[in-house]
Amino acid sequence: ALDFGTAFYDAIARDPGKLAVVDEAHAWDWATFGALAKRVAGTLTAQGHGRGARVAVLARNSAEYLALYAGILCAGACVVPLPVSATSQVLRGMLTDCGAALLFADSANAGLAAGLGAPEVVTLEDLPVWADADPQPDPTAPDPDDFFDLIYSSGTTGTPKGIIHDHRFRARQLMRMPRFGLDENARLLVSTPLYSNTTLVAALPVMAKGGTLVSMAKFDVTRFLELSEKHRITNAMLVPVQYMRIMAAPDFDRYDLSSYRAKTSTSAPLPAPLIRDILARWPGELYEIYGMTEGGLSTVLDARAQPDKLDTVGKPAEGCELRVIDEAGTELPAGAFGEIVGRGGPMMQGYLHAPEKTLEATWTSPEGIDFIRTGDMGRVDEDGFLHLLDRKKDMIISGGFNIYAADLERVLRDHPAVADVAVIAVPSPQWGETPLGLVVRRPGDLTGAEEILDWANARLGKTQRLSAVEFRTDLPRSAIGKIEKRVLRAPYWEER
Ligand code: ATP
Ligand code: MG
Repeated sequence: ALDFGTAFYDAIARDPGKLAVVDEAHAWDWATFGALAKRVAGTLTAQGHGRGARVAVLARNSAEYLALYAGILCAGACVVPLPVSATSQVLRGMLTDCGAALLFADSANAGLAAGLGAPEVVTLEDLPVWADADPQPDPTAPDPDDFFDLIYSSGTTGTPKGIIHDHRFRARQLMRMPRFGLDENARLLVSTPLYSNTTLVAALPVMAKGGTLVSMAKFDVTRFLELSEKHRITNAMLVPVQYMRIMAAPDFDRYDLSSYRAKTSTSAPLPAPLIRDILARWPGELYEIYGMTEGGLSTVLDARAQPDKLDTVGKPAEGCELRVIDEAGTELPAGAFGEIVGRGGPMMQGYLHAPEKTLEATWTSPEGIDFIRTGDMGRVDEDGFLHLLDRKKDMIISGGFNIYAADLERVLRDHPAVADVAVIAVPSPQWGETPLGLVVRRPGDLTGAEEILDWANARLGKTQRLSAVEFRTDLPRSAIGKIEKRVLRAPYWEER
């Protein structure tokens, strides 16, 4: 199998003058970038942070971050990329949980890092000075079971879980990704945080194969478009809210984006009208991917090739299989609604220090095959495409009927006044729960809530109807762009 370190050292030797990594402060060729990563590896090894060690990072994306990521891996240690958006209390929990002896933090997060109780903190901007040992001559050869990186889940549904990705997981992923053009010819724009698996799934193969990475510390629509044009970007992985903002940019059509080969969207639903707009105005392919940090299952929708399936997340990727089960864990017949379980793709080793959670996330088929429980509700249509409805925890149970917010959101989004929407469960004395539509109107739009409510309810089934529509100026989203329904629901349930 191809391991990251071996592939990376080959890439350094292949084309030393080629552009490797760009950020606001640096433009490093492969010789410069590779030399720094090798010195980082050598220094970590010399200081006892080699194989078996965990090294944490709390930083915005940067050229140094990418060199550090590669360096840690080449030393045989495990990278723990921490979310800069988390509170100090959550971060302290993660640091204790993962047991990292060494924490790198960029200057913007230095204050936060200092209070986390890490045995040693190094400023990331000082990396070239800190890495003063000789370059490591060869990458440390890993065992397939060795930890590669440890990523905390987004915490959308509860406390973040430490997800163990071993070298076996990443090696199989590195070999699978080239189908999106993530190879040595890729120029990838990295605009989502490096602590999210969404980002790593694309960035690691491009690094291992010797492509070019352009890193953004903070997402900004104009800057994204400028960098795309300037660096002749071929690939980007984005989350839906970024697409929403980019496509709404008044000067979008002024930028030359003809260098794009492929873009991906993942982590939250990408509405069909938005997909059509992207396909019409932004060159290159668009793939919507459904998956989870835990791995095991991914589905892919090739949007240009499958225009009548834009409301789905596509079909299982090569080698993946999915089934649908009910509350009791019984497999449901084709076409039925239920919880999605999947297997086949690269898969986590487990949740760190939580074997009971790992077990809970496993479903064993009657033939004795293990599947991962996704916690997502959905249905497979007659052509094998997956219609994703809701997270199980977001489902609305009203008068004994299951209501899927995604169905209601799709209808509301078709109303011309609606720019953004979330449907949540609120308490109802009569039905237990009832769906409420939270709507952000388009700028300047003054359509009334009653009008939107009546319009939507006329298009919904009798048991699906919204109880009300309320306006919001904005919807709360996590750092990776997921609407935080827990936050939206809380005030309605606390009042009781
Ligand atoms: P936690 O597990 O801590 O609650 P999380 O599930 O949000 O957080 P991730 O692994 O980042 O953590 O996200 C995986 C989830 O994101 C999936 O289970 C699914 O609910 C959602 N998701 C991923 N891709 C898509 C997609 N293309 N469309 C809709 N939802 C998606
Ligand atoms: Mg999850």
